[in-house]
Amino acid sequence: MPDTIAKPSPVPDEISAPFFDGARQGRLMLQHCTACDGWSFPVRERCPHCFAAKLEWRAASGKGTLYTFAVMHQVMNPGFASSVPYNVSQVDLDEGVRMVSNVVGIENAALKPGMRLEVVFESHDGTVSIPKFQPAQQAGA
Ligand SMILES: [Zn+2]
Repeated sequence: MPDTIAKPSPVPDEISAPFFDGARQGRLMLQHCTACDGWSFPVRERCPHCFAAKLEWRAASGKGTLYTFAVMHQVMNPGFASSVPYNVSQVDLDEGVRMVSNVVGIENAALKPGMRLEVVFESHDGTVSIPKFQPAQQAGA
């Protein structure tokens, strides 16, 4: 038995593969509707705005704003035992979609709703990269 238990890892499927392929290459990919110009996330088969099936993948800016967050102190999954306390954050991307992630590179006590963030990618078990967010490096970013 290993000393530590690994965090659960997302398993890309046929629909979400472009999201994870992009993340592995350092790009935050989102679905964009060619019928109504709307962005969508989470990954889906049809546009949530106009229900068209004309979704294509585009690289997002990777910039956004912290909407809200919670700091987890309980170990709900043994894979996260070495990570507590960690934040679970909702990030409003500039494209208009909200993503649940973690803000890294900052103490939890310094998190403030409305702060500007930018995406970074964290390799997970060497096979999957997961988008995380850090405080934006440039003013107005
Ligand atoms: Zn649409």
